[in-house]
Amino acid sequence: MWRCSIKRCHLCGQSRELVAGHIFPAFVCKKYVSDVDHGGGFLDLEGMRVTNRQLKRAWFCGECDNEVLSKTENYAARFCERIEGDPTTAHIYDEHLLRFAVSISWRVAKGCMEESTSQQEREMLKKPSRRWKEFLRDERPNILPYSQHLFVVFDNTGGLHKALRGAPFFDERLLLSQVGPLFLVGLLDRTHLSLKDIAVWGRSEIDPAGGTLSAISEWRVGENVTEECASLFGQHEIDTTRRILGMRRRGR
Ligand SMILES: [Zn+2]
Repeated sequence: MWRCSIKRCHLCGQSRELVAGHIFPAFVCKKYVSDVDHGGGFLDLEGMRVTNRQLKRAWFCGECDNEVLSKTENYAARFCERIEGDPTTAHIYDEHLLRFAVSISWRVAKGCMEESTSQQEREMLKKPSRRWKEFLRDERPNILPYSQHLFVVFDNTGGLHKALRGAPFFDERLLLSQVGPLFLVGLLDRTHLSLKDIAVWGRSEIDPAGGTLSAISEWRVGENVTEECASLFGQHEIDTTRRILGMRRRGR
């Protein structure tokens, strides 16, 4: 791991030596994406070129990287293992799952803000990003209205769960991140949503206190997913499958 000079850590705000950490958790890269023979190796962050190298950024000090972010990632890795071992059962999760989801959405939002040339887009990401950061710093007890939603997908036939991606969808006002089998959505705004859609989003919302969750067997518009989000997931699935197949054809 290379280190750079003393700079302000993007999480704790202290001037410290920063480490180049993964944007996406290493466990997902290792477990779901590094298996190139079976379609792994696909990384994408909107606005960045497509690559199969792991994306790294020197944003955090060693303490934030190891103590705050790695802890949530270890929890998510164990959660994935449990749910993969028995996908049809509802599994209990605790408060660490929300912290994991927030840390992913926040890092994706940060990456997009750094890359985007549009002032309007950066503005849209600014408030949710700040709220998520404050939550990770334990300065706020909740993240509302910028809630986090989770869908667990294991697609053993098509290999859809062997991908990493993080991208903003400004028309839909959300961030969609896929970290292996975990499909995470961070809402950037709720003011455009109908009461019906808010109720549907409520069913996938990660409860800060914990709850239960099982793998998604099918998308049911109006029940577990909104029409708008279902169409995004559909397009995401097409894009991802196409790229995975493309990589297989190129022998990667
Ligand atoms: Zn720090």
